[in-house]
Amino acid sequence: MQTSCFIDGKFVPARSGNTFAVRNPATDATIAQVADGNGTDARAAIEAASRAFPAWKNLAAIERAKPLRKLSELMLRDAERLADLCSQECGKPLAEARVEVAYAASFLEWYAEEGKRVYGETIPASDPGKRLFVLRQPSGVAAAITPWNFPIAMVTRKMGPALAAGCTQVVKPAEQTPLSALAIAELSVEAGFPTGVFNVVTGLDAPSIADTFFDGLTVRHVSFTGSTEVGRILLEKSAANVVRVSLELGGHAPFIVFDDADLDKAVVGAMASKFRNAGQTCVCANRFLVQRGVHDEFVKRLTTAVAALKVGDGRTPGTQVGPLVDDAGLRKAEAHVADAVAHGARATTGGARATVTGCTDRFMAPTVLTGVTPAMLCFREETFGPIAPVCAFDTETEALEIANGTPYGLAAYLFTADGARIMRMAEALQYGIVGVNDALPATAQAPFGGVKHSGLGREGGHQGIEEYLDLKYVSWRIS
Ligand code: NAP
Repeated sequence: MQTSCFIDGKFVPARSGNTFAVRNPATDATIAQVADGNGTDARAAIEAASRAFPAWKNLAAIERAKPLRKLSELMLRDAERLADLCSQECGKPLAEARVEVAYAASFLEWYAEEGKRVYGETIPASDPGKRLFVLRQPSGVAAAITPWNFPIAMVTRKMGPALAAGCTQVVKPAEQTPLSALAIAELSVEAGFPTGVFNVVTGLDAPSIADTFFDGLTVRHVSFTGSTEVGRILLEKSAANVVRVSLELGGHAPFIVFDDADLDKAVVGAMASKFRNAGQTCVCANRFLVQRGVHDEFVKRLTTAVAALKVGDGRTPGTQVGPLVDDAGLRKAEAHVADAVAHGARATTGGARATVTGCTDRFMAPTVLTGVTPAMLCFREETFGPIAPVCAFDTETEALEIANGTPYGLAAYLFTADGARIMRMAEALQYGIVGVNDALPATAQAPFGGVKHSGLGREGGHQGIEEYLDLKYVSWRIS
């Protein structure tokens, strides 16, 4: 297991010599001591990426595709090892970690191909003596700051398009989950990336590392996935050197179930969306809006399914819901339940911590709350925990008003059999992603991202590679 920063093709300790402990949130067992890099280490990584940039960008896209595709294959070859590491670091059940590895590898495979389709443009000129072109060129060194909740996929979702476009990259993973990023770095050596093309700086001092991304003209793009609060800080920092930023921020997804929905499918969708990674995903359903005619039946079926979930250490076979990543996460989930109950909601299952023998007390029992109103905390803020608050509504207009009544706009879901309503709702929901009778819409081929406080830019799809390309207009007088 690699535990050092990965700079210029080598695993190196932090310049300070310091390390920090990475712990399993289920047991608090120390998994490893990892290099505690800071701005100095990040500076060295940026310089390495800058040196590697000219040769990497000048390689034909078909050549850049080879190590990308190879890395995707190596990740699938080592899927079990990577999944186990991911589960240890962030607590998610092994079965989910395996899905994450496959999802993560798909971005490398897909962008290996998409990099070959970075086409330019010719523009018919008004002046017959001129020829007009648009070139699309890699913007330079790219930096990435990733969160702990998808420690493998959030790295490759940025690495795939950046490297395919011809940029080189420096990644700073979350302090809870640096080992997954370092495991990718280790495989990148075997995949054959040239030295300095991909770098990882681990460390506790995120602001000092981020400052180096913005303090000059070398880094031309910073891609961030994390909280809206930190996204705002980075957006401000980006102003000084006009660095382009892509921000994948928090969500507050409404999950809307209409009277005519297939309730079995809606409940299966609700379970997949809400309880994946113990509710710690940016696109997870955060608010259930259920039309009055099916409200009681939906709550009954959802409660039965939720009560049957197996809570435990993610590495224990059969576990479906792991721990919250840290104590702050647990306290937030508890506070949302307490606030709802204090204001008249009722837990039909769960509602308190869960005890898991031999583990920490960082587990929350999967919870369904009924009688929730839009005024309650869980309907105003992202919970990031295994809590499903349900609110009844009467009309489509009312559902839309509640759904859009938030500054967030990442993902929204609707379950209905009415085609015209699907079109009306898909158009009117102020979200970057709409799942229609589909609770798991994310895929490498499609643009992922939010509007309003949920972010700027897109990852995935042909749109994802645009973030790493500069347009250059060339006007050529030929006569
Ligand atoms: P976070 O606290 O914002 O941390 C995310 C990353 O930012 C980590 O690497 C963190 O480093 C770093 N960071 C923290 N403070 C920073 C600062 N002042 N300057 C620069 N970097 C800083 O978010 P989180 O709690 O890890 O992740 C959960 C959030 O991410 C949720 O809101 C979730 O919705 C969002 N998310 C969004 C998406 C999406 O695609 N839209 C996907 C996944 C998650 P340290 O770990 O060292 O503090």
